[in-house]
Amino acid sequence: MTFTWTAHRFAGGALALDVANSIILRADPERRIDRFADVAAIDSFAEAANRFGAESARFGALAPVAAENRGRLLQLREATDRHFRAAISATGRPEFLADLLEAIAAVLRGSLPHVGALSLDTATAQSALSLAASTEPDRLKICPNCGWLFLDRSRNRSRTWCDMAVCGNRTKAKRHYHRNREETGL
Ligand SMILES: [Zn+2]
Repeated sequence: MTFTWTAHRFAGGALALDVANSIILRADPERRIDRFADVAAIDSFAEAANRFGAESARFGALAPVAAENRGRLLQLREATDRHFRAAISATGRPEFLADLLEAIAAVLRGSLPHVGALSLDTATAQSALSLAASTEPDRLKICPNCGWLFLDRSRNRSRTWCDMAVCGNRTKAKRHYHRNREETGL
């Protein structure tokens, strides 16, 4: 089955969070899925981010990650998730931010000089840096249904779910959701 990126998978509201959310059900070792385990899916993510990503106007069309830089992107992804998840849960530690900044720096150092399109990894590093320097940290949230990180861009910061149409409804029909997990496309 070919995996397709959809708008729902860009519910994070920031490129760095959408990248972090490429691990599905991260906290559940038995059910977690790493969508970036397939290299082709990393490349198609870069394309889809231009269509669905909240920061597409900022970064424009993204070039794929060079093969030698994929490892650094994945390290940045993990540092991003660890830092922001802990910060939102009020269990943040200074070294998580230090790790994130180091991961950002490593990506930027490894970035190829570019003409035109930014590569996915470089744009993700810039996105993570903006989030880390955010003056409104209370806009960062964790979806209580799926555990994804998201940036609540709503005016009154009232969003609960990463995606009301998916996680909001799923929670209402939780029993149904567990029965039909295979069909829900999570
Ligand atoms: Zn969710």
